[in-house]
Amino acid sequence: MKPQLPWGRLYITKLIPNNYLQGSEVPFYVGNLDSVFEKHQKWQTLLPRVTPFYAVKCNNNLAVLRTLSALGTGFDCASKREIEMVMSIGVTPDKIIYAHTTKPQSHIRYACTQGVDMMTFDNEEELLKITRGHPNAKLLLRIAVDDSKSQVKLSTKFGATLGTVGSLLKRAHELDLDVKGVSFHVGSLCTDGVAYRWAIEEAHHVFEQRLIGFHLDLLDIGGGFSGHGLEMALDEFFPADSGVRVIAEPGRYFVDSAFTLALNVFARKKVWSLPISQKGSSKELLLSCVWSFKIYPDTLFSLRPHRSVESTEPRYQSVIWGPTCDSADRIMDVWMPELNIGDWILVDNVGAYTIPMSTDFNGFEKPTIYLVVTPQIWKMLNLKVSNLRFG
Ligand code: PLP
Repeated sequence: MKPQLPWGRLYITKLIPNNYLQGSEVPFYVGNLDSVFEKHQKWQTLLPRVTPFYAVKCNNNLAVLRTLSALGTGFDCASKREIEMVMSIGVTPDKIIYAHTTKPQSHIRYACTQGVDMMTFDNEEELLKITRGHPNAKLLLRIAVDDSKSQVKLSTKFGATLGTVGSLLKRAHELDLDVKGVSFHVGSLCTDGVAYRWAIEEAHHVFEQRLIGFHLDLLDIGGGFSGHGLEMALDEFFPADSGVRVIAEPGRYFVDSAFTLALNVFARKKVWSLPISQKGSSKELLLSCVWSFKIYPDTLFSLRPHRSVESTEPRYQSVIWGPTCDSADRIMDVWMPELNIGDWILVDNVGAYTIPMSTDFNGFEKPTIYLVVTPQIWKMLNLKVSNLRFG
């Protein structure tokens, strides 16, 4: 059945006048759960051999987690708290990978008590901690791979270099630990599928070492997805009959386009005038906003006014500031039509790495989250989520 996508923006159009009438200035998200469902369907078509373990860090909204859980995905957790979260909605330990290579000892012990066995490592100290806290863990050796094709690099901080792989596996063997396979992450916002090909080939080298004592049968291709060319590289290095189970840790893929954020313009400051030839004067707009925008490149987000704008209206060179007293809270420099206090700005594709990173710094309220879903998807997934709106 092809679900009808509710248009999250229609809901925003309904909501903004209400908020406005009630004088609300609090930013809000609208998350479209049908979009998460659609992404899952697309994943199954494009990468049928790869089981997704959704990266909770990316967007830990409970409705998102419940939707993915109902669809049967696993979960990549980075801490005790994230493990608690997914287990609280009924996810079983076999569907969890503790995918952080540097873990607090107490979190390792917690994973052990909960039966969460799959975890990653990339250094010897971690192996010693795992020996103490979870000696029966099923380990994945995370290797550092080329992340030059990604906007958010991860290989400087995480992953064993290929030169250290042999000694790490030897050490794991001496400690009587069970290494089941290899993981990598090409970095978030990967723009070229060739990065996966290179990484899969490097993972294959590790499998090829055929170390005595280990039966490697698990490959974890991490996150960062665009997905291009991936299936081909898997078929070349880990064909379906290789006996290797392939999993992944996608985050952004499932949620970024599912969420739109509405921001209230609650202050405005005219800064200086430009000559007429440059179309207008400069304005600074202060928005009720989340902070985490700063970490991602401006090109990821496009801001547009909620009100309809005539093509003939002049645009002003504007600086969009967040609400706090911190001058680092500069969100974006952009040409905008005239906006007044009380107007709203919409930002699309903000489902990834904004909600868990939002802050109430300076005492500003975090955005409210509204969720929309069609009745078909709601029923099909038997979603037990409060505060849903039906699209
Ligand atoms: N797995 C790990 C270990 C990560 O660090 C991240 C992101 O930082 C992810 C998965 C998810 O990556 P993405 O959202 O780019 O798919």
